[in-house]
Amino acid sequence: MIKVYESFNISQVGQAESLLNSEGIETFIRNQFASSVMGEVPFVEVCPQLFILNAAEEERAKELLQPFENQPSAPDWHCQQCGMDVDGPFGVCWSCGSLRPA
Ligand SMILES: [Zn+2]
Repeated sequence: MIKVYESFNISQVGQAESLLNSEGIETFIRNQFASSVMGEVPFVEVCPQLFILNAAEEERAKELLQPFENQPSAPDWHCQQCGMDVDGPFGVCWSCGSLRPA
């Protein structure tokens, strides 16, 4: 099995899974019910992870999941133009309109 995606947001992992399933890629989610044990085990070990069963499909799966990689869990960033702190999900500074630095 190959891990192709992980997120603390289980609904995002679920969406990623349905996307791959709809493309005919078989998947497996580990730690799907992690939220029920949160606090009892180290956080990092219960992060829901999405695996694919067929290693040959890894590249295609990662391509399909690209949009998920750029979602909310992105860290906040610092605008280089105006110095404002911008929330992670935003690709553009809400203050001056500059693009997020690469
Ligand atoms: Zn700015």
